[in-house]
Amino acid sequence: MLGLMQDQPLLISALIEHADRHHRDGEIVSRRTEGDVHRYTWTEAAARSRQVAHALDAMLLDVGSRVATLAWNGYRHLELYFGVSGSGRVLHTLNPRLHPDQVVWIANHAEDQVLCFDTSFLPLVQAVHAKCTTIRQYVMLCDADKLPADTGIPGLIAYEAWIAGQPTTYDWPRLSESAASSMCYTSGTTGHPKAALYSHRSTILHAFASAMPDVMGLSARDSVLPVVPMFHVNAWGIPYSAAMVGCKLVFPGPALDGKSVYELIEAEGVTFAAGVPTVWQMLLGHVGPNQLKFSKLNRTVIGGAACPPAMIDAFRNQYGVDVLHAWGMTEMSPLGTLCTLKNKHLALPEDEQMKIRLKQGRAIFGVDMRIVGDDGREQPWDGKTFGDLEVRGPWVIDSYFRGEGSPLNDGWFPTGDVATIDPDGYMQITDRSKDVIKSGGEWISSIDIENIAMGHPAIAMAACIGMKHPKWDERPIVAVVKKPGQEVARDDLLKFYEGKIAKWQIPDDVVFVEAIPLGATGKMLKTKLREQLKDYRLPTA
Ligand code: AMP
Repeated sequence: MLGLMQDQPLLISALIEHADRHHRDGEIVSRRTEGDVHRYTWTEAAARSRQVAHALDAMLLDVGSRVATLAWNGYRHLELYFGVSGSGRVLHTLNPRLHPDQVVWIANHAEDQVLCFDTSFLPLVQAVHAKCTTIRQYVMLCDADKLPADTGIPGLIAYEAWIAGQPTTYDWPRLSESAASSMCYTSGTTGHPKAALYSHRSTILHAFASAMPDVMGLSARDSVLPVVPMFHVNAWGIPYSAAMVGCKLVFPGPALDGKSVYELIEAEGVTFAAGVPTVWQMLLGHVGPNQLKFSKLNRTVIGGAACPPAMIDAFRNQYGVDVLHAWGMTEMSPLGTLCTLKNKHLALPEDEQMKIRLKQGRAIFGVDMRIVGDDGREQPWDGKTFGDLEVRGPWVIDSYFRGEGSPLNDGWFPTGDVATIDPDGYMQITDRSKDVIKSGGEWISSIDIENIAMGHPAIAMAACIGMKHPKWDERPIVAVVKKPGQEVARDDLLKFYEGKIAKWQIPDDVVFVEAIPLGATGKMLKTKLREQLKDYRLPTA
């Protein structure tokens, strides 16, 4: 017997219509590439999203066609999120930090038909357009009178001219909720990148989940700053959940340095911000020395890479900002777990609570997870036993776009992360499986070693990698970047580890470097670091 409830497909167009009807004057504030600040409302965003849909119809662009973007976080990008997906096309957010050859490879693989790009990416588009064989329309995200002459890009049009004159009403199609809505290629450090192809259904379910109190807890009273880019996993789904709950949205544009982000947080009364640790490092690097405070910011989601304890501590104890440590990946839309305490933890002393906050957190309803051993058997949830982390759920990929074979293991997606899960369901990542250090048959967590180094007052950043060792197979070393004007000697840093981890886990050496190589999404690139240190020899080997 079927239920007798309405069979309404879960569609992205419904989000922008909801925002228009129910959050009419809710504000969207964007710092633009031009340097000024643009403001408008959800109702204006909705009207212009419908104009985007008309502009795509006018091109006779088929349903399912890919419309790519190379853009910062801003209002025009938001309009494309809704106009492209809502009208049945697939929004393909390209990562502008990738090497131009990779951008070409990805655009051709995705068979992008349209590319909308911010003015700052004009040189990149000029360098790649001749090799992008499927793109038939280039749109620059600017006013009609700002379009430069002689760009060399055939048929280039300004966004404002492209949508100007299009009607602001639109009859959104009633698509299947399983239809593709957007796509994102993984940052993939080896081989060609692979794409996750999200659906309307997966996106809406993820938006519902991410707004829940023990997840991001978003509401109409929040002013939300996604520093996490809209070109990487849809800014963790924030544009969608923001339209759902009607919060104020604040977009940083290209200005991601600590000073600019701080000023925006204060000027726009930001209560909630989301980003990767490297961004918050820059923010704290500005706020600390200038003795600044946050007036309204009360919580921040930090994820995409392990959040160092020193960062959680600084936000909580110096600035009164709650840090929510989150874990996820491109293949998971991206949210998988988020760390909030349970009722029974509230009475624990601060240092005990801290041990929990450091973990990547509990599975969000919709995501199921397990850890498996080398023999493929599920491992116990005892908080000690490591295993390969696998997940499943309605916003986890089933297969890659144009991928060969299934990535799944018995219905579960292997994340490539190694983790423990404690009896309360808190998952803790110890490493990417390829970064695990095996010393004398025992595993050493590189994240633990990095976290300790970053707790030292003179250290800005740390990356731990394993080096070949004749006796122990591998031994850890830690590459560190010192804070400006700070000094620490190798032996003193090694001493700093004593008592914090077992003796045999303490790194064999410290290598001082100018910078740790970062990938296109702001994560440490250990493959590159290994390359840089290929002539390095362990003192203990
Ligand atoms: P991406 O698909 O590029 O977003 O990368 C996903 C990967 O980032 C995960 O598989 C993890 O290895 C890593 N990651 C994401 N969040 C965290 C976190 N909170 N702690 C440690 N690693 C993380």
